[in-house]
Amino acid sequence: MRRDETIFNLINRELTRQEEGIELIASENFVSKQVMEAAGSVLTNKYAEGLPGKRYYGGCEVVDEVETIAIERAKQLFNAEWVNVQPHSGAQANAAVFLALLQPGDKILGFDLSHGGHLTHGSPVNFSGKLYQPLFYGVDKETGLIDYKQLEEVALQERPKVIICGASAYSRDWDYAFIRRVADEIGALVVADISHPAGLIARGLLSDPLPHCHVVTTTTHKTLRGPRGGLIMVGKDFENPWGIKTPKGEVRSITSLLDLAVFPGTQGGPLEHIIAAKAIAFGEALSEEYMEYVIQVKKNAAALAKVFVDKGYSIISGGTDNHLMLIDLRNKGISGKAAEAALGKAGITINKNMVPFDDKSPFVTSGIRLGTAAITSRGLKEEQMLEIAEMIDVALIKHDDDTALGKIHNKVKLLMAEYPLYK
Ligand code: PLP
Repeated sequence: MRRDETIFNLINRELTRQEEGIELIASENFVSKQVMEAAGSVLTNKYAEGLPGKRYYGGCEVVDEVETIAIERAKQLFNAEWVNVQPHSGAQANAAVFLALLQPGDKILGFDLSHGGHLTHGSPVNFSGKLYQPLFYGVDKETGLIDYKQLEEVALQERPKVIICGASAYSRDWDYAFIRRVADEIGALVVADISHPAGLIARGLLSDPLPHCHVVTTTTHKTLRGPRGGLIMVGKDFENPWGIKTPKGEVRSITSLLDLAVFPGTQGGPLEHIIAAKAIAFGEALSEEYMEYVIQVKKNAAALAKVFVDKGYSIISGGTDNHLMLIDLRNKGISGKAAEAALGKAGITINKNMVPFDDKSPFVTSGIRLGTAAITSRGLKEEQMLEIAEMIDVALIKHDDDTALGKIHNKVKLLMAEYPLYK
């Protein structure tokens, strides 16, 4: 077969873009070479429907070992009693959890998308808002912190079957114990989606949801720095006192319902090449080096947030406990969309984001979301956060001036040349 230069040229262009730019998209990261090697390995050739030791295909002896190692490492990393490493993505993990625990039409209570939640937590444009009856809680208008009182009030009044916590754009820790207490009062299940801060939670830098939440889902590619994928975990709540049934009408444990909801419920064959890459990433995340990495991710986010606050930017909730921050640009007279475009011209990649109580549409937005997981993988520290915040500030002030943005782009290239991506 002829080498497909069209695609490989594009891949090379993307490599250059990643190498030369400042990557501040909070949900992105740079995986290690060995994670990439596993993701591009011969394991992509293998079908393995089922679970290790219980497959619907022959020739699974090697992938059985790979998947078992991935499961064991994930359990060790998160201190989980049970995990399923097969979800193809975070959205797939959440789809499987809802399929396992809910019936169509059941009520779910999630964090409002426009306040920082995720589409799969009940948005009307997503399966979760179409198949189930979504209810929402948000943040307090004054503090920007989760309004736990509202969460409790809606839960007690509406009695949802599932309460979902976790977010895509919330910079503070969660009170999982409180949410569990509310859920226990109404006999609901708690699902925590820790996609964003998973790496920080795994290494003890944020509260641990596993002792409190019945089910925990995550992506594997954000702070966790693995391949694109999903993961479902259970801490201790195997029991099924709700009598939730399988499609065949059997009452099984929560973990058995979850396994069935992944396969055959929502997926076919697992991606064993990605599962191998997940196993490597989990192994890396257990290392001392990764511990230093996540500590630095947090330090960098705090340093970046501080400079913005000092420069008069309004950060939702006033700062950050994790790897990200949401900046409300309304006092700076620029929309999220215009900011994203200007920063793009300066070689700084971020995303526009709705802020709580936003008066602009999701296509325009009043805010931007920044995260430090990717730049910390490049080796940048607090000192460079000052430099980056300075460049962002100038780019936003001069957002209409292409010459000024071009100058910043050159400075960005020079800075990032000092931190090679794949040496
Ligand atoms: N859950 C949360 C909280 C997320 O932030 C995301 C992705 O941004 C997802 C789920 C979905 O993950 P994926 O894009 O892998 O489907």
